[in-house]
Amino acid sequence: MPICKCASCGTQQTVSIPERVNVRENPEFKAGVRDGSIFVWTCPACGKPNLVTDQAMLYHDPDARLMVYLLPPGSISARMEDSLAKQSALISESLGDYTLRRVDDVGTLMEKVKIFDAGLDDCAIEMCKHVTRMEMAEKGDKDILQAKMKFFRMEGADNEIVFTYPKDGSMQCVAVGFNVYEDCAGIIRRNPSVKPSEGFARVDSGWVASFFG
Ligand SMILES: [Zn+2]
Repeated sequence: MPICKCASCGTQQTVSIPERVNVRENPEFKAGVRDGSIFVWTCPACGKPNLVTDQAMLYHDPDARLMVYLLPPGSISARMEDSLAKQSALISESLGDYTLRRVDDVGTLMEKVKIFDAGLDDCAIEMCKHVTRMEMAEKGDKDILQAKMKFFRMEGADNEIVFTYPKDGSMQCVAVGFNVYEDCAGIIRRNPSVKPSEGFARVDSGWVASFFG
């Protein structure tokens, strides 16, 4: 259990966050991962909430056949990195049609869970973000190319896809039609080479750029 330091007053506290979450065995953990609250601890001295950003977590949803490995930079050594690569090849082989993803931060873990809970494919979502960013940049918003866009939710009768992104210190939303998502999913289906790598794969803006950059 890591010892964490309150960012506000410096009080140290032992914080217990599960290293493995299986949402079939512990369904109560799902909401905490989706909204990030599982990573928050409240300082007993000053009452301020703190976010644990450096702990690894393996999120497992057996019903969705999904595993997302949160591995913040520095949370594992080079040797562990090496053994993870070997293990993930074995896991891919033994689990078959499982979706295995690797993320670096809590926000991206939350996003992945939301995407798969909505029944969407994260590869198509990343491509959808890419297309949306390009369109917004063409209309004059050049900052959007560097902004971190995140899937927020699918809403309305038309299943609009809503993304959030930071701009001038606040969060903005942009909604795109479900047809854009379907077009992206179609392009991916027709291009078998556009797929995640073996094992716990990163599917992010860098992944999309490697095909369509
Ligand atoms: Zn404190």
